[in-house]
Amino acid sequence: MNSTPNTNSPPSRPETFLDERSALSCVHCGLCLAACPTYLETGNENRSPRGRVYLMRQLQSGRAALDAVAVAPIDSCLGCLACQPACPAGVHYGELLETTRDFIERRFTRPWFERVLRRWVIEGVFPFPWRMRLALLPLKLIRALGLERFLPKFARDAAALVPSDVRMVDLPEISPGEGPLKGRVGIITGCVQSVLFSQTNAATLRLLNRAGYDVIAPMEQGCCGALYSHSGRLEKARECARHNIATFERHRLDYIVINASGCGSTLKNYGQLLKDDPAWAKRAEAFAAKVRDFVEVMVISKSEIRVLNSEVGVRTSDFGLRTSLVTYHDACHLANAQGIRQQPRDLLRAVCGANFVELPETELCCGSAGTYNLTQPAMAARLQERKTGNILKTGAKIVVTTNPGCLLQIRAGLSKAGRADIEALHMADFLERKLSPSDCPVAPGRKPNLCLTPPAAGS
Ligand code: SF4
Ligand code: SF4
Repeated sequence: MNSTPNTNSPPSRPETFLDERSALSCVHCGLCLAACPTYLETGNENRSPRGRVYLMRQLQSGRAALDAVAVAPIDSCLGCLACQPACPAGVHYGELLETTRDFIERRFTRPWFERVLRRWVIEGVFPFPWRMRLALLPLKLIRALGLERFLPKFARDAAALVPSDVRMVDLPEISPGEGPLKGRVGIITGCVQSVLFSQTNAATLRLLNRAGYDVIAPMEQGCCGALYSHSGRLEKARECARHNIATFERHRLDYIVINASGCGSTLKNYGQLLKDDPAWAKRAEAFAAKVRDFVEVMVISKSEIRVLNSEVGVRTSDFGLRTSLVTYHDACHLANAQGIRQQPRDLLRAVCGANFVELPETELCCGSAGTYNLTQPAMAARLQERKTGNILKTGAKIVVTTNPGCLLQIRAGLSKAGRADIEALHMADFLERKLSPSDCPVAPGRKPNLCLTPPAAGS
């Protein structure tokens, strides 16, 4: 959707919103271009990281007017951060993008449709699980009556992302670990995650318990702020951060675990988000230092699997034969923002052996990108189609990933391609299924939870 020129907003005046040193460190070498999905799809310099950094500096200096023409390339950025690891000059593109978007949201008046979508739907519903639950009721009714085809296209596309089998499970506030206690962790249940993927949260909790962790899921926790920070509402994101820091400080925890990559990168960024707030900066750093993605704490010991397999006469190489071909999609906010690429592959190789296959262009965004598939549906659909095509090339029957947005986008893509027979699963659901008593080849009388060996608490 295109923004129309803003005639009501105050005239653009120069304002320092960028970290000038970081912005100036872009030497226009262009090495980031091949990593950028929107540049690869359009070939347009204005849709590249280099072009966007240049535009941000133009906006800051006042040489470019803050109008619809200038806002469109920033809106079209996925925030996937694929450009960041590709940049030899170390440009902190993610920070430049967030502060530019914050500047835009404060100074630019969007057309009414975009305002409704961003303020009322994305900010007004998604961060509040109970509002999300209410919002799902009319959709359930429309589906039950078979009326989806009468919805306008944008609503039909959005509805297609919502799974048809949403069953909500509320997590207990305290769940004791099994066997010798390895530690005590808090779990972030997420907003969208806790409504559309509450069963994945429950699987995550059970796996942590089986690995010997007590799990605390504080009821008072709220949105991590990712939805706000990605859409340029930094003050709202800071409010979320302060609330969650205060909530989790009430518990003695070794780690704070999250199984949604987009939220995880925001939680790990709390120190940066609150660095200018003297009352919260240190507390935010301490909180962020404890945050771990689920795949970081859930490590399967290969030697343990080997020992257990030998007891029942199963060769390690046989282990993977118990599963169909499995591939893995790197969620941008796990791979690019948190630099976590190896651990999920180690987990999958431990469970699938030779039946794990790499996905072509795995690092390329699927088009979900938070709420990008709602605000920029055309580009999101192109990237979804590209991702689906790559999945089909692997011949895999299961694609595993670590982020709810990616799961929704990939499932909808497979469904559009008529390949709903290929499952898209969260890592926690996949592991729980594969480590169930029927699938995990352990010695008789020994529990499958012996397959799970997370690192010692505090390591
Ligand atoms: S790779 Fe880095 S320095 Fe080179 S153009 Fe891209 S952002 Fe600028
Ligand atoms: S964040 Fe992603 S879409 Fe945006 S400029 Fe970087 S690589 Fe391109």
